[in-house]
Amino acid sequence: MPGFEIFGDEERREVMEVLETGVLFRYGFDNARNGHWKAKTFEQKLCEHTGSSYAHLCSSGTAALSIALASCGIGTGDEVILPPFTFVATFEAVLQAGAIPIFSEIDDTLCLDPLKLKDVLTPKTKAVIPVHMCGAMARIDEIKAFCDTHNLILIEDACQSMGATFKGKSLGTFGDMGCFSFDAVKTITCGEGGGIITDSARLYEKADQYADHGHDHLGGSDRGADDHPIIGTNYRISELNAAVGVAQLNKLDHIIAVQRKNKQTIKDALSELNSKLSVKSDLSNRTVEQISFRNMPDPEGDSATFLSFFLPDENRAQEVRKKLAQNGVDGCFYWYDNNWHYMRHWHHLKEMKTAAKLPIQIFNSNHYNYSKISLPQSDAIMKRTISMQIKLSWTEAEIEDRIKKITNAFI
Ligand SMILES: *Cc1c(COP(=O)(O)O)cnc(C)c1O
Repeated sequence: MPGFEIFGDEERREVMEVLETGVLFRYGFDNARNGHWKAKTFEQKLCEHTGSSYAHLCSSGTAALSIALASCGIGTGDEVILPPFTFVATFEAVLQAGAIPIFSEIDDTLCLDPLKLKDVLTPKTKAVIPVHMCGAMARIDEIKAFCDTHNLILIEDACQSMGATFKGKSLGTFGDMGCFSFDAVKTITCGEGGGIITDSARLYEKADQYADHGHDHLGGSDRGADDHPIIGTNYRISELNAAVGVAQLNKLDHIIAVQRKNKQTIKDALSELNSKLSVKSDLSNRTVEQISFRNMPDPEGDSATFLSFFLPDENRAQEVRKKLAQNGVDGCFYWYDNNWHYMRHWHHLKEMKTAAKLPIQIFNSNHYNYSKISLPQSDAIMKRTISMQIKLSWTEAEIEDRIKKITNAFI
């Protein structure tokens, strides 16, 4: 997952180029900046890498989601469907937009179940935000088909899945807009940063304006001459952060290749282990697998930041998780007990503990009582799921040692 593992001279050089000019602002100062436009360069590279027509860089992945929602015209009282397995940022952005997060079940892809979306559809539904979790894809073609049928906006939260594809096409390019995060622990990082991609000139223009106080950026080098066609806010990125991102984006292909190789080695070891662990069930005479892997609609497109797998039941998952920790296998996640990535422990949302009153608290009805929401299918999956982070910096000896420790956790 983390691009920070391979910081080097490339990042330092990009940052120094910015510091030497003293221009940390992404707009204007045309003469003083000595030809360095790091945010713009990053945006061009993001377009090239994702095959998207337009890209806008901003201050965080959360900001990217907020900008996308605003650009797509989603606001007060609109319902937005999203999964309960995501980082809190996804529902935060929906709430900040004044809209209402509506949670829908995930399936064994660890992402939104396209077949369950119809169960939460109402006349107020305006958009769906699938989250491509842990480096790989949702059933995005089916989710897109659902959105097309019901005339809904599709915004992809691809914050965790930079470099991942579905059938050869970059995640984030299937919806009206796609969002990425470049925070400190993501596949590539700026320290803090986010990006939005779209093929729509109209949506790009809105995003470009909204993220910079409504500036139309048509006044040339004089920002004061810009007009403000819409009310916006400040979600700008600094040139320093963008500079780090330019160097990191150049390393993305390498990062993905190393992750894929490391993941495959560990996955092969787990598969082999599984053939030893598989037992014949007495009743049905079926082979019961101890470990089954996350369902990937297109395994080739996996960015391989995580290896996620299911155990037969919650008890076994808890047992294995404890043993992995005891054996010193770091970077293992049991999301079901996690405070930040699964709805079960989002007490602040369930009790609506807000700093200031949000529109949802004015329009609220019992329908939006988050403490009462039950998602049995998602719970059943998350209870059995363990994810292992895949690192870039592992040596062959470290991977071998890791596999031994993992094996010992199962037997
Ligand atoms: C990291 C993340 C975000 C938010 O990104 P930030 O840059 O940290 O604001 C949004 N959604 C998901 C799924 C994430 O993992």
